[in-house]
Amino acid sequence: MPELPEVETVRLTLKPALGAIIQSVWTSGQPLRLNRPLPVAALRRALTGRTITALRRIGKYLIIDTDGPRSLLVHLGMTGRLRVHKAGDPREPHTHVVMTTGDGREIRYSDPRRFGQVEVVRRGAEREHPSLAVLGLDPLTEKLDGKYLLDRARRRSASLKAFLMDQSVVAGVGNIYASEALWRSKLSPNSRVDRLTGPRATALARGVRDSLRHALARGGTSLRDFVDAHGAEGSNADYLIVYDRAGEPCRRCRTPIQRSVIQGRATYFCPSCQIL
Ligand SMILES: [Zn+2]
Repeated sequence: MPELPEVETVRLTLKPALGAIIQSVWTSGQPLRLNRPLPVAALRRALTGRTITALRRIGKYLIIDTDGPRSLLVHLGMTGRLRVHKAGDPREPHTHVVMTTGDGREIRYSDPRRFGQVEVVRRGAEREHPSLAVLGLDPLTEKLDGKYLLDRARRRSASLKAFLMDQSVVAGVGNIYASEALWRSKLSPNSRVDRLTGPRATALARGVRDSLRHALARGGTSLRDFVDAHGAEGSNADYLIVYDRAGEPCRRCRTPIQRSVIQGRATYFCPSCQIL
């Protein structure tokens, strides 16, 4: 599932679409997340004839602004791809939205598993959308520090792993970067969040920021489906420190990395140097 570095990579690689004029909008007619049908009429009304003016991101949500009052809100779900093609390129299977632009290109959204989200929002009011109103701090665009995490940890008893993956705490961190950030901060994924202290919270904030920036610099992590807006895979999978590396030696202490399941999700950690 794409997490913050992957979504940010899509945003950055979509930049050639800035300034393009959307001439027409096509949809597959199939529903996406929550079995909600795509809002075809609203998409056409909001986008047709409009110029793409900005590409923004909040957590794992992409926002495509136009010179009109409404913006396109996109969440890639598990297998969503947002790509720029030449208009004549064959369409990938499971293409659900196509925006044809005046310069002979198409911005296409494809999504085999259809857990993604494509909606229209009023520009400037996107934070009022129910999916975004609940989001916590975005660790790339806002200041994530130990004080913030400590504050959000109050009166909670979840595991640190679950805490990091809670989108109302830190927006954009998912299963991969939660494991990576905890290794970087030398904290156990099973540790209870109410045991977080000032220094540990500071280390955790740094671990989150560093693991995300590290991945972003490598174009994101492509384990299965993720590609950027040009169709290129990111190289960060080769640079993950613990995720999907059970049995391999820890880079700090050489102890084999362990895999366990927390809240139904695979979790990777070093049992020797992540003990707090
Ligand atoms: Zn270790």
